Amino acid sequence: MLTVGLTGGIGSGKTTVARILQVLGVPVFDSDRAAKDVMAGDPVRTAVVAAFGDVYTDGGLDRRKLASIVFNDPEALQRLNAIVHPAVREAFARWKASRSEPYVVNEAAIMIESGGYRDMDHLVVVTAPEEDRIARVMMRDRSSREQVQARMRNQITDGERTAHADTVLVNDGRKLLIPQVLALHHSLLQRGA
Ligand code: ATP
Repeated sequence: MLTVGLTGGIGSGKTTVARILQVLGVPVFDSDRAAKDVMAGDPVRTAVVAAFGDVYTDGGLDRRKLASIVFNDPEALQRLNAIVHPAVREAFARWKASRSEPYVVNEAAIMIESGGYRDMDHLVVVTAPEEDRIARVMMRDRSSREQVQARMRNQITDGERTAHADTVLVNDGRKLLIPQVLALHHSLLQRGA
């Protein structure tokens, strides 16, 4: 079974690609969702509290409080990642062990930054022009241009992502996305068979 990584910058369309693949019957693991899930409970919760103090409330993790601690503090962010990433990797391995399809997809926003791409047999990077990404996220999240640009500045560039890519999907609204995903799907099915 092949393990395929799927990543891209904010608003590039990686979740859209993941949805198309799911419709084609491909199992997709959502690493960003899994990170939220593992942080909600032990053993990650205990480790996070030991490292950063009580950033949990009755309602669960206070993401804003934790973000304010790790924001602009690369060393703190690294400590947080060292707690969360191995737990997500384990959750992915358990999930993958229960699948029997020719290939599975691991979708993650920060797959390059985390080094997770090294565990993938094939890495797919979704790209789109910056202006398209800004417009799409403004519409999706009802956020301002400045808010989207601030989130973009916190991420690596498309160039840094595509340097690691085995396949680049161009989601610029001109080159049709679905035929690109279908071609990728058929080649991965062949390789995974
Ligand atoms: P994020 O990292 O913020 O989660 P993402 O890379 O997963 O973003 P999507 O959520 O797939 O991106 O896409 C962003 C928005 O743009 C969504 O509302 C989606 O429906 C829309 N979108 C994606 N691709 C296209 C396209 N080719 N044409 C028009 N809208 C698109």
